[in-house]
Amino acid sequence: MENKIKVLFAGAELTPLVKVGGLGDVMGAMPKSLAKYGIDVKIIIPFYGTIDQKKFKIKLFKKGLNLQIDNSKEKFDLYQTFLPGTKISVYLFKHKLFNSKDIYFGGRKYFKGGVYSREIKDIDRFIFFSKGVVEVIKQLNWQIDILHAHDWHTAMLPTFIDEYSLSDENFKNIKTLFTIHNLANQGISSLDIIDYAGLHQALTPALMEDYYDHDGDKIDMMKIGILSADLVNTVSPTYAKEILTKVYGENLEQYLLRRKKHLFGILNGIDTDVFNPQTDKAIAKKYNQNNFLSHKILNKKALQTKLKLPVSDVPVFALISRLVSQKGLDILNPLWENLLKQDLQIVILGTGEKKYEEELKSLNKKYPNKFKAVLKFDADLAQMIYAGSDFFLMPSNFEPCGLGQMISMRYGTLPIVRATGGLKDTVKHKKTGFVFKDYHSKALEKACDLSLKIFKDKKTLNKMIKNAMSQDFSWQKSASEYIKLYKKLVR
Ligand code: ADP
Repeated sequence: MENKIKVLFAGAELTPLVKVGGLGDVMGAMPKSLAKYGIDVKIIIPFYGTIDQKKFKIKLFKKGLNLQIDNSKEKFDLYQTFLPGTKISVYLFKHKLFNSKDIYFGGRKYFKGGVYSREIKDIDRFIFFSKGVVEVIKQLNWQIDILHAHDWHTAMLPTFIDEYSLSDENFKNIKTLFTIHNLANQGISSLDIIDYAGLHQALTPALMEDYYDHDGDKIDMMKIGILSADLVNTVSPTYAKEILTKVYGENLEQYLLRRKKHLFGILNGIDTDVFNPQTDKAIAKKYNQNNFLSHKILNKKALQTKLKLPVSDVPVFALISRLVSQKGLDILNPLWENLLKQDLQIVILGTGEKKYEEELKSLNKKYPNKFKAVLKFDADLAQMIYAGSDFFLMPSNFEPCGLGQMISMRYGTLPIVRATGGLKDTVKHKKTGFVFKDYHSKALEKACDLSLKIFKDKKTLNKMIKNAMSQDFSWQKSASEYIKLYKKLVR
């Protein structure tokens, strides 16, 4: 029998143990499909203070492991569980740096979950975690073939592997894949991080020149991941092309261009077991492609009742998102009041920047019968909104892949998206949603007007809903694309 390829996933989030956004969903869903295709995959994440140890049956695996950081010895513990419903091992790196329950971002409390804090402190935390990962690789009785690192938090891992290879034979055969989930967050730090991490040999002077940030005295984790991993990929074919340009390259386009031959774009999938209107326990009435006509309206009623909006079959527009400019809040803000002149309702679920939250709060007061913004993170309410709305707003300025538009289509809620990144790759104009080009309120308004027109044309509307619901966004296809990359690496 052919030996299975052994892959260790390392990242900052993992649904359902700990989720902030799409990264958690991908980390939690892709391994299940990889395992089905015969990949031997395990996962490692930090053990945040908010992860529910009891609920996820997390047990101590190894106590008092050592790691050398900041020129001194630190101890950490390793815990273990299985990804719920699977035999996939999840290791949890336990250290007090990850114990905190509150998260602060941009100087304010952002959301609960203990995942991200202020970025500068985060860099230390995730370097620490990354070093822990290589120590764990040493400890596991499992010779891995591929270390699959996700986003800037674990972008230093290929360099750690190189550093350890210099003195440990076992590390020489480990290949690395680095997945960029969002190029905008890079983990930029002062140079003393090299000392802190103990990365003196792998970061050779010749390499260091490239590693300096454009300011000249900074180090950029994302850049390190891009330059040092054996292969690099991002989460949609369009974003993989966009990031080679100045507009989307976030100052790293020259480095990405250098890796062009080793850079790939693979669309994310969604967990179709979790995001399934036929089985979803969080929604009022389960439905499928054949009965959405009579059942989706019941979900709309339940949503309106829950949010204390008048119950009626007016078009409901939804937004479920981090409230940041990336997600199109800049072009949505000038549009809200124009939209609200029409006979419709707007439902928003999200947390984020204060200026956007304040704007939404004032609209809540001004239009209590038409506008409801819920400013929190609430996975169950999100499902109710996906099921109970008609249109899903996702007018992102840039979007590496985006999951919201795929989830909304699966729930028969037509997405209104800008033609960028994964949105462009997944939504078909007037077939499964509405697509506009210019990042401008006027262009978005035109797309919303078209959706309202189609709302009245029930024959076209229902055909579009059916089309949207029948799209295949499962991980199956994407996982096989990842396996092609793994095979390239181990060949
Ligand atoms: P990103 O990872 O950039 O935030 P994605 O579209 O890739 O955006 O993934 C966002 C995920 O997080 C989706 O599953 C979306 O439903 C979910 N989400 C975003 N905000 C909230 C919220 N306030 N409450 C519940 N779920 C949310």
